[in-house]
Order: sequence, then C-alpha cells, then structure tokens
Amino acid sequence: MLTQSELLSRQADRESNARTYPRGMPLAVASANGVEIVSVDGKRYLDFFAGAGVLALGHNHPKVVEAVKAQLDVFVHGLDLPTPARDEFVTTLLDLLPAPMRGTMRVHICAPTGSDAIEAALKLCKRATGRTSVIAFQGSYHGMTTGALSVTSLVEVREKISGLMPGVQFTPYAYCSRCPMKLEPTTCGTACASLLETTLTDTHSGVVRPAAMLMELVQGEGGTIIPTSDFVTRANAAARAAEVPFIADEIQAGLGRTGKWLAFEHFDIQPDVIVVSKALGGIGLPISAILYRKELDVWEPGTHIGTFRGNQLAMVAGTTAIRVMREEGVHQNAAERGAELLAGLRSIESAAIREVRGIGLMLGVEFANPENGAPATTFAKRVRAECFARGLLCELGGRADATLRLLPPLVITRAHVDAAVRIIGQAIRAAES
Ligand code: PLP
Repeated sequence: MLTQSELLSRQADRESNARTYPRGMPLAVASANGVEIVSVDGKRYLDFFAGAGVLALGHNHPKVVEAVKAQLDVFVHGLDLPTPARDEFVTTLLDLLPAPMRGTMRVHICAPTGSDAIEAALKLCKRATGRTSVIAFQGSYHGMTTGALSVTSLVEVREKISGLMPGVQFTPYAYCSRCPMKLEPTTCGTACASLLETTLTDTHSGVVRPAAMLMELVQGEGGTIIPTSDFVTRANAAARAAEVPFIADEIQAGLGRTGKWLAFEHFDIQPDVIVVSKALGGIGLPISAILYRKELDVWEPGTHIGTFRGNQLAMVAGTTAIRVMREEGVHQNAAERGAELLAGLRSIESAAIREVRGIGLMLGVEFANPENGAPATTFAKRVRAECFARGLLCELGGRADATLRLLPPLVITRAHVDAAVRIIGQAIRAAES
C-alpha cells in the first residue's frame, strides 16, 4: 500500500493545482468512523471539520449506510422520475419547515452541489419577478459556479474571473466585531440594516429593484459571522416591503447545525426560498435542493434541469439521516455541545484571540494582532498546523483566513468537546512560543 507521503505527492503531481484541503490538512485517509478519521499511516484524528460541515451524523453512520446499501439493489439513478424513495425524501424535506410554512412551499431537487442549488434559486427568482439583479452580502460564500461565484464576496477569486453575472450589489453584513462602517454595535442602531432599507427605497440609490436578496443566516466561509436579529429581521422586512424574494442559503448552517433545523428559525422571519445541501446527503452523498413559496413556481418544464437530479442513494441517505437526527435529538445535542465548546474556547487566554463566536456547532476563533487589530493569518495557520499535529482537524476561514473554524459532527460528546478545547489551547500556546 502507498504511504501517506506517496499518496500526497502523487496527488500533487497528477491532480489540479486548485486542490485545497490537503494543503492545510496533509492527510491521506484510510478510513473513518463517527467523529474519527484514520490516516493511511494509522494516525487517528478527531474530525472537527466533518467534510466542510457535511457529516452531521459523523462518518458512515450505520443506519444510513444500511439504508443506502438496501437501496443499491433497488434503483439508483432516476432523473426526476417519481419513486417511493424520492417521495419520502420530499416529504422529509417539507416536514423540516416550521408549521406555518408547511403546505406553502414546493421542492426542486437540484444537481448534486450547493452551488447548483444557488443557481436554481437565483434563476427561479429572476424568472418569477422578471428582474435581473441580486442583493448579496459582504462576507458571503455561495459557491464556485459562475452564478454562485457572482454572489460570493471573495475578491481574490472574483478578480481573476471575467464574465461574472452582472447586477450583483454587495451590501454590508452585521459583522459587528469588525463593523464595515466602523461603528459600535451598542450605539449603531444597526446602520447596516438602515443602509439596506435606504438602498431599496431611495429613488436615487442607483440600485434597481432586484430579483432577490440572498443571505446566509450565519456566514460560514466568511468566518462564522452570526448577525444580530435586528439586522436579519430588518433586511427580511425591507425585502418583503419591496416585494423582493428573500433567499436563505442554509447550505452550511441548516439541518441542525446551529441547534435548530434551519438557521432562519433563530430569527423572526419566513424566507421565500430556502437552499439546502451538505448534510442533506446523510453520509456525504451529494444532493441539494431548494424549497420555495408556491407562487414563485412560474418555471416552464425543463427550466432548471440536470442529469443527476435523482440520485436515489442520496435521497434515501438524507431521509434516513434526518429521521435518525429527529429520533436522537441531534440538533439539541448541537445546541448543548455547542454551548460547552463555546464556553471552553472562551476560557482559553491569549492576546491573539480577537473574538470567539459560535451558534450550535458552528464556531470560530478569530485571531488578530493585539497591537493593531490586523487579521493574524500566519498565527491562525500555525494554530491550525499545531491542531493537526495533535490530531484535531479544523479549517481556516473569514477575512484573510484568520479565523479557526470548527464544524464538528452534531453527534459529538462532552469528551470530544473537552479534547478539542484542550488541543486548541495547546496549539495556541505552541503558536505563541
Ligand atoms: N453556500 C454556502 C453557505 C456554503 O457554505 C457552500 C459551500 O461551502 C456553498 C453554498 C456551495 O456549496 P458547494 O460547495 O456544494 O457547491
């Protein structure tokens, strides 16, 4: 069998330069189970990244694996033809909605990635409103296909790609610890929401009425930014008043991760379109979907097609995973373990920590230069490397990649929380020395 360093170097020789994760986590995987990954060298890692937040139940949950194996012998690739597995999956998806929204929405199953579901959501809103532009937020991440990248704020990636979708207006998000307007959250009156309200109502804002407003209810790749309720409710109300469909990107924050089924439930809003993916495939089988108000369904047959919109294995995996999550109270576990993890991380003392934030099991530790507040990218990289050396997998994100991001499986125990806090504390001390 090839060793880890051989596998990594063969990959570097033969695969695209765009590969990312093996650079920060130089690891070749032999197997995984639950919260643990085992490298081909036999080293065990606590996986607090969970495949970019996909593995809500951890790796290879036995009940999901069993259901997928059973479906393998029945039917696998189904386009959008109805099947019992698809029907049950759609019921499961609609049942995720809060009671007042049930019966008001339809489902479109998209091609396997979150990005495709974002494309679908944008296309749906454009078609339904007859408008073309979109309001998106600074700090956003919605994917890498052309439409999804057009509404993603990452300047470094955007500036190298020509021909992005025109008409995207980025507006400040409530990132209060680094307020884009340099205001204080206690006295600002949520100026970012006021700006958005004015943009949509001022006859001289220069911004034509958009087809959609697209928001992550917690920004993930942007650095685990948890907005204030005032910001979210006012943005949603402004969209509603202007008859602009509000799209909630729940790809990362949805399906229990924040301690509620859908992250928008933390706020008093009802989105018009909800985008889900990641954890939806149960054990990491790729699938995505949008749920949207029935009135928006003006699509003609074939408006958003794609060959792989009917993977029965992914649907069975999703249905089973969501059932298991309900039976085992997994989103409550996310809320409880998340609170413990947040408290544990906040107990770590370091001048380099600017802020520790989290909601459920979506957490971030932002590092900054204590003297001038500049993002401490090199320090964050060192912390991540020290975590890796001690057997903890986590990622970096946010402005200048200075935030350590934790997205563990939602089934972690108190012992996992304690181990992660201990390792991160040691890693920060090692990075300081
Ligand atoms: N939206 C959010 C909030 C995400 O976090 C991601 C991926 O990380 C996407 C969209 C894009 O999903 P995918 O990578 O499956 O295309």
